[in-house]
Amino acid sequence: MSRIIDKPYFTYSAYSALTLGIQAKCPKCQGAGVVTADRDNAFFRCHGCGHQMTRDRTVYRYAVHNQCRHCGRYYRVEIQDEAKQRFPVLHVACPYCKSRMPGEVLRTAQGFSYADEIREGKEPYFGLELWFLSYFQGKPVWAINREHLAYLIDYLSADLREKPFGLPKRTQADHLPTFMKTAKNRERIVKLLKKMQGGAD
Ligand SMILES: [Zn+2]
Ligand SMILES: [Zn+2]
Repeated sequence: MSRIIDKPYFTYSAYSALTLGIQAKCPKCQGAGVVTADRDNAFFRCHGCGHQMTRDRTVYRYAVHNQCRHCGRYYRVEIQDEAKQRFPVLHVACPYCKSRMPGEVLRTAQGFSYADEIREGKEPYFGLELWFLSYFQGKPVWAINREHLAYLIDYLSADLREKPFGLPKRTQADHLPTFMKTAKNRERIVKLLKKMQGGAD
């Protein structure tokens, strides 16, 4: 009998970029690379060709701040249109008297974008395909990194699965789609995961 104690919900998720890193496919050479992140930026680095990318995780807010030349009041108009946000100066209408005049576009940091979930086998920071990705009956089967892959194999091949101590509401296994947990598929999924474990890197 093999038994496994499940892990907390966020152990292996998009947030793994902040800890162990997410293994992803390099868009240039298709080799293995890693996505990491800190509070401000997300990074990609290819182990094969050395290709690197950085992305700002800050979410900005753009607004024209002005004093109306007609009615004399101070106002602020939010600029939602991404194309317009690039201009240093824009013509907008005063919200009080509606007269239009040029005003300076100011950028302020609003906060940090939170990491989205992994979707369709792609990580959410750069949209790169995960390195450990395969398909089972047309559905993506993937792991964020080697540790996650080992966890999935252990979890699915165990005879007994237990919740971690303290009974949290959601655990790591809640991320798994039903088709992976179904008894009739489990053995074949484990085989597929083991193949990824042996063939990659
Ligand atoms: Zn590369
Ligand atoms: Zn005005």
